[in-house]
Amino acid sequence: MHMDRFPPPGDEKESDRVKITEIETIVVGSRMEGAGRLTDRNFTYVLVHTDEGITGLGEATLEGHDNAVLGMIADLTQLVIGEDPRRVAYLTEVMMRQKFWGGGAIKGSAVAGIELALWDILGRSVGQPVHQLVGGAVRDRIRYYLNGWAAGALEPSAIAEKAAGALEAGHRAFKFSLAVPSWSVHDRELVQQLDAVLDAIRGQIGDLPLMYDGHGRYDAELAIALAEPLAAHHCMFFEEPVLPDRVRDMAKVARGSRLPIAAGERLVQKEQFIDFLQVDAFSIAQPDLAHCHGFGEGLKIAALAAGFGAGIAPHGPMSPVLTAISLHFDAVVPNFVIQERLQMGAWCESLITTPLKMSEGFLSIPGGPGWGIELDLDVCRAHPPIDVAIPRMFRADGGVADW
Ligand SMILES: [Mg+2]
Repeated sequence: MHMDRFPPPGDEKESDRVKITEIETIVVGSRMEGAGRLTDRNFTYVLVHTDEGITGLGEATLEGHDNAVLGMIADLTQLVIGEDPRRVAYLTEVMMRQKFWGGGAIKGSAVAGIELALWDILGRSVGQPVHQLVGGAVRDRIRYYLNGWAAGALEPSAIAEKAAGALEAGHRAFKFSLAVPSWSVHDRELVQQLDAVLDAIRGQIGDLPLMYDGHGRYDAELAIALAEPLAAHHCMFFEEPVLPDRVRDMAKVARGSRLPIAAGERLVQKEQFIDFLQVDAFSIAQPDLAHCHGFGEGLKIAALAAGFGAGIAPHGPMSPVLTAISLHFDAVVPNFVIQERLQMGAWCESLITTPLKMSEGFLSIPGGPGWGIELDLDVCRAHPPIDVAIPRMFRADGGVADW
């Protein structure tokens, strides 16, 4: 990727006009040993090439729906080929509003992958990091929490061991989940299991930040029951206690719980966030920049959340590329709370040529032009796509449970 600079838009001769020449996608398979299939991923990267030699990088990973996102990116390509990549806001409008069908996670992720690459091009074209282009950082470093460290462990002693390992590795905030099917409304066994696991984790990490992700597995009544041990163990938030499109249920849980509710990774349009924010259904919004149509839309969601007094904890259990991109976002969002990061195989860190800097629970803000990272194409080629299936769950009576 070259660092040549473009002339400013509108100032150039027609012969100097910058044009998008190609949208390239690269799919990289990532399997984390010892985690079952919980954190299997195909990282979907988008490279936007230009006739000036600058290439932008974005990520559009949507677990288990890789082919659909690749197809959507192909459908969007005709809208942007030949256009000036520096018109990021305009091209985002084009992709979101044209070709009739809008919304949804598939389109939200595909648009995001291209949009993120356009920001990278814009930053590289003026030799500035993206966070500088939108007003500059409001903080010096980014607090993050680790996800995926429990690797599917369910027994208190096993989870305690994993927590000790994550602490030893230098992490200082932790999220976990109990991926077991539950009964509707009342499940005393699960409430007791969660209580015991929380005891075990607190025994290792002390008072460090701890969060629980429900993955939308529960109905409102059971979620309120689970919120009791979570509040008693001083968890920072209870994520997706109910399915993410259930506004009334989420609001009911928020009213009935003694800890903050967080959600938003599966909301991809700013209008959806308003529905939840205006009834106080969550106090922490979790947009994912690879799903919510990109960086620009993420900033609008953050501003909406701020208006309702809500914080932002970006979702992002993906590759270091999305983490690096999210760090630029975290740097400029005043109501930022904490950034998600996935524990992954060591080789994954080398997908970018300059690994992210981590120290005592914080990540450094990348400082180079664009996103400040370069994708290592050799590492990508060494890890072809894998067969990814999001785990499926069934209740003891054979009924379908949410994952
Ligand atoms: Mg989640």
